[in-house]
Amino acid sequence: MTLPQPRPGIMDIAIYEPGKSQVQGARRVIKLSSNEAALGPSPKAVAALAGSLGESHRYPAGDSGEVREALGKAHNLDPARIICGAGSDELLGLVMRGFAGVGDEIIHTAHGFAMYNIYAKGVGATPVVAPEKDLTTDVDAILARVTPKTRIVFVANPNNPTGTYIPGSEMRRLRAGLREDILLVCDDAYAEFVDAPDYESGFALASETENTIAMRTFSKIYGLASVRLGWGFGAKNIVGVMERIRSPFNVSRPAQFAGLAALADRDHVARTKAHTKKWLAIGLQRLRGLGLKVGESHGNFLLPEFPKVPGKTAAECDAFLQENGIIVRRVDGYGLPNHLRVTIGDEEEMTVLLDVMAAFMERK
Ligand SMILES: *Cc1c(COP(=O)(O)O)cnc(C)c1O
Repeated sequence: MTLPQPRPGIMDIAIYEPGKSQVQGARRVIKLSSNEAALGPSPKAVAALAGSLGESHRYPAGDSGEVREALGKAHNLDPARIICGAGSDELLGLVMRGFAGVGDEIIHTAHGFAMYNIYAKGVGATPVVAPEKDLTTDVDAILARVTPKTRIVFVANPNNPTGTYIPGSEMRRLRAGLREDILLVCDDAYAEFVDAPDYESGFALASETENTIAMRTFSKIYGLASVRLGWGFGAKNIVGVMERIRSPFNVSRPAQFAGLAALADRDHVARTKAHTKKWLAIGLQRLRGLGLKVGESHGNFLLPEFPKVPGKTAAECDAFLQENGIIVRRVDGYGLPNHLRVTIGDEEEMTVLLDVMAAFMERK
């Protein structure tokens, strides 16, 4: 008997492991494992969610029209070139299905976001890994890996889990060095957190070219990870392909209402950003003070590197944190076995986290 067989590539996928949300035995759990917003969603978004529930028997707007209009206004972009999805994850998958298949190659960076690799294998394409330099995207390394089979290049900017970014000039040099038929995906999931003056979101390149798409999400600074809302901005020829293959009601009604309210609550976004910046700075200083190697992060998380000394390793710190009810993210799967990714939480969570980290580093 021959059972149904999956398409080539699918069984090579290591199933995505989300950040843990529970630890055994702990009363109160501090979850700093998924880069969720420190201050939660805007109360206005929560009210909009609640208000949408009575209409749950209705299908949502299939084209997320109001959300695209509002996004267009907020960012000065043409709404006709915006596509919404159930998280930007869905859009990354649509890009892959739309533009790559069996025998094709896609390029992502060594410590790039895990889903690029997973979606590539899902369509039978080959993920080609470009090494990074100092945990940062290396444009020359990407360009050196382009072959006639290359279809898509994915760059998260800033990147998760490294927290590093490349300046607009580097992204433009990358675009200029790629063949015209190669799609460049600028995954800007953390763009709203960045203050660096030489940073440029993917919107500009996506406006100026017909082979670049920029992706954004409501899961990070807007604090709506659970409702699943992301969006992309690109040329009509790119967005039009994705529109053809997406499911007809891919963004739920609650997600559309919550997104509209969250987008309008600029104060909440500003508060979240200020809080995140403050605790990134405090966290960086405290962790460095404990002797850990930590780079500056342009996202909402830090990535301390632990010594390979028995008793002080990343794995042992992770276990110690869990014993104390704190969940952070192991990043072995990203090729970083000596690092832990720690999301910025609220004030109380950060205070507890930093004290427990200090206890770990100081224990005999
Ligand atoms: C969180 C994240 C996403 C996906 O977010 P969604 O919840 O699917 O919108 C995409 N890219 C990067 C780099 C991320 O960190």
